[in-house]
Amino acid sequence: VAVSEHDAYLELCAGQALDALSAEDRARLEAHLEQGCSECEAALAAYADAKVGMAATAPAAAPRAKVKEDLLARVARETQHIETNRPMPEMPRRPDPGTRAPWGLVWGLAAFALLFLVLNVWNWQRASLLLRERNFARTEVVRITRELEDAKRVLAVVNAPEAQLAVLLPTQEANQSFRGAGYFDPATGNTFLVFRHLDRPPTRDYQLWALHGDKPTSLGLLTVDANGRATVELRGIVNPAHLSAFAVSMEPSGGSPRPGPTGPVVLVGTIGG
Ligand SMILES: [Zn+2]
Repeated sequence: VAVSEHDAYLELCAGQALDALSAEDRARLEAHLEQGCSECEAALAAYADAKVGMAATAPAAAPRAKVKEDLLARVARETQHIETNRPMPEMPRRPDPGTRAPWGLVWGLAAFALLFLVLNVWNWQRASLLLRERNFARTEVVRITRELEDAKRVLAVVNAPEAQLAVLLPTQEANQSFRGAGYFDPATGNTFLVFRHLDRPPTRDYQLWALHGDKPTSLGLLTVDANGRATVELRGIVNPAHLSAFAVSMEPSGGSPRPGPTGPVVLVGTIGG
């Protein structure tokens, strides 16, 4: 195998050490190793060592200086090893390996330096990908946790022993597709209501009311989204045991200027009727 072609196998060794090879590349490398290649075997062993060193540096993207120092020290050691093993002039030269070994080693070291570079780039790319994935995962956890908390609060209302279903239906003055439904816990006054098919008048607001007999108490304005939906979650409505109904009225923008509805009541629903 020519040197330039063989570099490709050495790169595959680096990829193999990082478990980053495609099945096709892994098969190529395995076929090459089956033919026996001490250079690739040595590279694989060196990369396994380097990988252990780099794993210890996570989550930092760059390998610790120590790993690099170790590798450089190793290169220096192996170079020295060659120099001290160089045959003395008076000793008989070994015929073939004696002349070939130094060049093989120079190529080996050059390849090793190249591989070290490839490994660093590979490792850096992988680390930055992991970092992006980790940040995304964190945002997802925050979002899902919030949704879960919302769901838990709703479930607490729905599962309350005395929970009562509230269904709000349109009055004759309203668009007949308006709907509202939810649950109300008379023990705590906690309430969860969902509204559907509300049209969004640009200069008006829908206002939610609690009715104790005839006496209205404002529960705030509905925030209607582009799909005509609104969700209301209320904690501790006053005097929950004597609440008789929910109602929604159409009011001037910002809500009723008075303690009760001024516009037409569009939705009404008695509780536990
Ligand atoms: Zn090889």
